[in-house]
Amino acid sequence: MPFKLARISGKAALVKGEHYYDLKTISNNVFDEDSLNALNNLDELNTLNSTLDSLEPTGLIKGALINSPISSPMNCYAVGLNYRNHAEEAEMEIPDVPMIFTKHTTCLVGPHSEIEMRSDHVDYEAELVAVIGKSGKNINKKDAWSHVAGLCIGQDISDRVVQFAAKPPQFNLGKSFDTFGPMGPFLVSLDSLDDKESLQIECKVNGEIRQNDNTNDLIFDVPSIISYLSEIVTLNVGDVIFTGTPGGVGVMEGKFLKEGDVLTTSIEGLGSLENTCKRIASHSGVK
Ligand code: ZN
Repeated sequence: MPFKLARISGKAALVKGEHYYDLKTISNNVFDEDSLNALNNLDELNTLNSTLDSLEPTGLIKGALINSPISSPMNCYAVGLNYRNHAEEAEMEIPDVPMIFTKHTTCLVGPHSEIEMRSDHVDYEAELVAVIGKSGKNINKKDAWSHVAGLCIGQDISDRVVQFAAKPPQFNLGKSFDTFGPMGPFLVSLDSLDDKESLQIECKVNGEIRQNDNTNDLIFDVPSIISYLSEIVTLNVGDVIFTGTPGGVGVMEGKFLKEGDVLTTSIEGLGSLENTCKRIASHSGVK
């Protein structure tokens, strides 16, 4: 049974049609307000989801404050250079192993949050995001999808100056400024999608299409990333994986994000993020 898990005004909720249903309320306190805890009991969540039509909605999605569907995962991983056309535009070799870095979980924000920029070199990266629903270690590729609770959209916002400031570069901080991880709008279960391995992905800045690709172009697909990662680290329920961005990022043409820009990121079957850029300060490494 397809579900959409959300966080509305900080509280876990299920979404159906135009409405959301507060999870704690409709479950008579079986679930609490933390959406991550809901992933620990996916069977019960599915059961509850199948009864939504008979329940009173908590409110309308339109006008609600939608947060990142997962608030504080234990870890947030990301993959660099994971689309062929992006590796080529960056003049980098096609990688033999996934190029993994982390985004600090404090950067995760909602689908309509402002992006707070501290230099003139902030860039967008539209990405498919997988969220772990079953913990695991040494997960085989063929079992990997069974460890995924659902998919959503992510923006791996990057300050290119800080990303490449150290020699050799260390990506974490340049991609982890507060607000640099818009995510959502909802966590969509895999059975909601006709083909979870082939989804159109698009990024627009003020309506101009900058990135347009399909997730079937990933060099390392979701099972490959999960298998690779889980040989090294235990994947926990709620862990977030940004799977990489297609070609068309702004840095290639010097088209960085500016004050007031509206960034729209869409993936087939998952909805859209719409984030407005705000220049709030200058960091000490500004060039
Ligand atoms: Zn990225």
